[in-house]
This record gives sequence, structure tokens and C-alpha cells, in this order.
Amino acid sequence: MRAATLTAFDTALELSEIAPPALENPHDVLVRIAGAGVCGSDVHLIEGMFESVLGRPSFPYVMGHENAGHVEAIGPAVSTVEVGDPVLVHPHITCGLCRSCRRGQEAFCEALAFPGIDGRTPGGFAEVFRTTERSLVRLPERTDPAPLAPLADAGLTAYHAVRRAVPELPPDGTAVVIGIGGIGYFALQLLRVFSPAKIVGVDVDAQKVRLGRRLGADEMLESSEDLVADVLRLTGGAGADLVMDCVGVAPVPSQALEMLRRGGTYSVLGADKGEACCGTVALTGRELTFRGNLVGTLGELTELMQLVVRNRLELTHSFYPLAKAADAIEDLRNGRIEGRAVIVPSDKT
Ligand SMILES: [Zn+2]
Ligand SMILES: [Zn+2]
Repeated sequence: MRAATLTAFDTALELSEIAPPALENPHDVLVRIAGAGVCGSDVHLIEGMFESVLGRPSFPYVMGHENAGHVEAIGPAVSTVEVGDPVLVHPHITCGLCRSCRRGQEAFCEALAFPGIDGRTPGGFAEVFRTTERSLVRLPERTDPAPLAPLADAGLTAYHAVRRAVPELPPDGTAVVIGIGGIGYFALQLLRVFSPAKIVGVDVDAQKVRLGRRLGADEMLESSEDLVADVLRLTGGAGADLVMDCVGVAPVPSQALEMLRRGGTYSVLGADKGEACCGTVALTGRELTFRGNLVGTLGELTELMQLVVRNRLELTHSFYPLAKAADAIEDLRNGRIEGRAVIVPSDKT
């Protein structure tokens, strides 16, 4: 089958012919990929940023952790999906049995596989992909899965973060979303769905400022050195109740902490080179909460799908054939993607 593979760090993805995956375990499912979203984490993986945590990938490696498609084959124990079903694929493969899984914290599964990221389990920048039935959300019949692929990671991470934040966000409060890229544009829309609070979006790029306005932000700001002062001005000097950092690089973490009101929450969705530091005197005196967000649960993915079925989310994407996967990565790296880039392996052009 055709796949876009990474053969070494800091190289472009290459189109190659590799052996297709086979069913190995009774609950395995093969999915013919209709769409695979391109994530900032893909750029980091190529740059070697995860090597210290995950080790060196087994090159050539197939990336792609934001997948949707049609069921191609099922193992003998599979009972919840059938061949031909359109499905959205949760990015994790989890056991369902360990202590974390039983607590509903599948992201910390003791037997976790993270296809397309972990360097061992192949991802979805390929014609066919293997996962387990536990990771699948079945889509309504005749749904085209390709445009929905970004929900599996970007949408789900934003959903997880917003659901956790909303109970602490009063209706007369203010939420700031920094970075209206692939995750931030979902976070902004989901805040609009779940909270009447004032939403302030921030981006460096004028086009994404316009996107944020279209998606319902009350205010959109272009990032600048005056960002903290701008947010304080918009909140009558009090600061924001919630800052969602979808960027994760300096100076955003320090700006985010400065613009929070006392008792506020700094919620990080963008994993990058930034560091969030706060002295213990300020942390206690201001009662700040720091929160990291890693994808979301299987239940949350099912909930998120309902919002899509009910047309509560706008999906903005650009499609690329598998042969142009390297271009999609470059366009993301250079901030040229509005919403999400999605690789479509069935497109042979
Ligand atoms: Zn991702
Ligand atoms: Zn587990």
C-alpha cells in the first residue's frame, strides 16, 4: 500500500510502498483512511522534539494520529462495527482494563499505544491503518469521514479542555484563546457552545483574526507586546478567568499568567518549547490553577460527534493527496493552514 513515511529526523515525508497492516488480535480493526489530519505534533516529531520522551522512532515511520475512514476488515471478536462503516478513530489504543482505564483516564493507560506518534505503532498517513474496535466511534451512515478527521485529535483536545474549564468560568467572566490554529479554532467554537462568557481570541496572523471573528469571538486581538494590557483593558483591569494557550511557545506562557485574574486558570493545549513558571508566592497569593490537556476520552469523542451531527461546529480544512503530505507539513509549519490540513490517501493526483 502507499504511505507517506518519515525516514529520518528533519527530512521531508516520502511517498513509499509498504506492506499493509494485518489483523493481529481478536479486537483489531483495519480502517481504510479517508482523511488524516496534520497536527503540530507531527512537525515536532519530525524535528525530534519527542525523542527524549518516546525514544527514536523505528524509521521508516508512518505518522498520522488524527484519522477517519471506513472499516476495511475486523477481527473475530469485533462486535460493534462492520466492514464498510464510516468511523472516527480515537488517537489512542487502550486496554480498558488497567487502573487508569477503569478510572476513565485512558490517556494514561498502562498499555497505551499512540499510533503515528509513539514511534512504534504506524499511523494514518497511509491507505490502511490498524487500531482496535474500542478506539472507534461509528459515524452516521453515508457520512464522509474525511472532513471529520481533525475532530479525532484537535477537536477532541479542545473539547476535553473546554469541558474541564467551563465549570470554573462564570457567565460574566472572560476566556482568552491564544492561537486560532487547528486546536484554537475548535476551542473558540466550543467555548461559544458551552459558555455565555466573553471570548477574546488572539493570533499573530490577520487571516486567523478574521477567522476568529467569523467563529463568534466577542473580541479578536493581534498578538503584540501590549497583549496583557489589551486583555486587562477588555476586562476592566481585572484580568481573564481562563486563558487557553494553544501555542505553547514564549512569550505566550508568561503573558498568559500575567493576564489572568486572581483565581484564574491557565489551560495549556499547545505542547511546544515554552515553559510556564510561576513563583510559589504568586501562585498561592493569586490562587492560580495550571492545567495541561492531553487529547480526551472515548466518551468525550462520542459527545463531540453529537455537536457535529447537530451542526454546532464549523469545520475548516484544506485537503492534500498522500503524495503532497510533505507540502501539508510545510504549510502548517509556515502558518499557511486555516483550520486543519487533511491528507486524503484515496486522492492519487
Ligand atoms: Zn495532535
Ligand atoms: Zn489501560
